[in-house]
Amino acid sequence: MDHLWTPWRYAYVTGADQKSGCIFCDAPKESDQEARIVHRGAHCYVILNTYPYTNGHVMVVPYAHLDELQNLPVDAAHEMMVLTQRMERWAADANFVSVIGETRVLPETLDVTWDRIRKAFGIGGL
Ligand SMILES: [Zn+2]
Repeated sequence: MDHLWTPWRYAYVTGADQKSGCIFCDAPKESDQEARIVHRGAHCYVILNTYPYTNGHVMVVPYAHLDELQNLPVDAAHEMMVLTQRMERWAADANFVSVIGETRVLPETLDVTWDRIRKAFGIGGL
């Protein structure tokens, strides 16, 4: 297996304030900006990864804290996939991913990415 080594991330990852708590239970209680939530759906929300491997690295997270994906109710699973498709489209439109699937790294901060994704969802930004 090949390993992806991104040494430029090391200082950021080791120097950032570590958050404790549960992404399922605690992150949705924070403000959108504090948690870097870009969209809140009925069953799932979309959150920027604080330690992204590349620009636009988001996670679609159900509000329900379950131990297995197969336990997720159908409505929540459907919304999760719809939001995942929407984020895939957004990443392509934002030029984070090319049409041939290569990932591009754009020099922008998490706050800028957060603002851009929220605008794509029609939510006011900063
Ligand atoms: Zn939890």
